Amino acid sequence: MNHKTEGPPCRRMEASLQQAAEGKITGIKKLYVLAHAAQCYRCGTFLERMRATLAALKSQRLDVPSDALDRLREKYGGRE
Ligand SMILES: [Zn+2]
Repeated sequence: MNHKTEGPPCRRMEASLQQAAEGKITGIKKLYVLAHAAQCYRCGTFLERMRATLAALKSQRLDVPSDALDRLREKYGGRE
């Protein structure tokens, strides 16, 4: 058995990991959280995913105007 198994992050770290991914904490607390994530596989994975998800949400909001999909459907929909 090794420790590199998928799973939820440490319970006491979850909220802090989320705040770190959102950039809501700084200084010593952030260092503490990042140091933990670096040596704890589950928390490290959780932090990575949280960051990726936030980045995806952010870029979606910036790159896709709300009516773009509707226009695409209007243009290409129902032609086949
Ligand atoms: Zn952990």
